Amino acid sequence: MIYHKNFQLLILLLVVGAMLISCSKPPADQDRIVVATSILPLMDFARQVGGDRVDAFAIVPPGVNPHIFELTPEILIKTSRAKLLILNGIGLEFWADDLISNLQQSDIVVIETSKGVEVLEADDHTGGNPHIWLDPVIAMHQVRQICAGLCRVDSIHADYYRTREARYIADLQKLDEEIRMEIAGWRSRAFICFHPSWRYFAESYGLVQAAVIEKHPGFEPNPKDVAEIIRVAQEIKARAIFAEKQFPVKISQAIAAECNIHVIRLDPLGSDAEQFNYIQLLKENVRQMALALK
Ligand SMILES: [Zn+2]
Repeated sequence: MIYHKNFQLLILLLVVGAMLISCSKPPADQDRIVVATSILPLMDFARQVGGDRVDAFAIVPPGVNPHIFELTPEILIKTSRAKLLILNGIGLEFWADDLISNLQQSDIVVIETSKGVEVLEADDHTGGNPHIWLDPVIAMHQVRQICAGLCRVDSIHADYYRTREARYIADLQKLDEEIRMEIAGWRSRAFICFHPSWRYFAESYGLVQAAVIEKHPGFEPNPKDVAEIIRVAQEIKARAIFAEKQFPVKISQAIAAECNIHVIRLDPLGSDAEQFNYIQLLKENVRQMALALK
């Protein structure tokens, strides 16, 4: 009988010990929460908040223009493992309904991180400009939405997510201050862009988007449009055209040559999924802008 009691105690100790070990070590790959996000910046936000508890990926691959992106069967298979789907919203994921209706799992939680953001209207995007993530202050809002989503699907680890969220928001606040200080010293504020990705950024930091080359996706300006853009560029003394890695650059180069100004090839989305880091991406873009505007 005594032996039996000790044996029970031993089993209990082993079970408790195993539980303690499983709590302190990082979860195995199969225990991680799979998080599908639309674009690399949102993937990074999910990784920053989720740490080693999440396995986050981006649906739109690096180098692809999200405005003309098409779903593939591979994406459907990959996303069918996800518990959480993180979207930007404002029409960026025009394919989202299609994706969700084709998923096997009916309980996937969908978070639209633009909810509550004041949308800038009236440009070449139908339904408002979706490029909110390029303003670090709005990015903080998106991070909070992502944290709320993670806490919903994995409430046991809510404290873990909230601690990491607070730390990352502090990093974004520091980034915001650094950008503000850097741009305050620039002698020029006006730019022309190929595609209006930097509108929220410009509004936040006092830059002026004076003209847009591509009036709607796939649009090629005619000679009259080009003449008008050149006139505006000269009138406002624009010092740069912001082109983008995900868009053609030829027209920007032609207009820049005509005005004798720089083409700055910015990257609003990142070009490497594994090495991707939102804060580094923003810093690199600001460094590029400074080459023309400082
Ligand atoms: Zn766009």
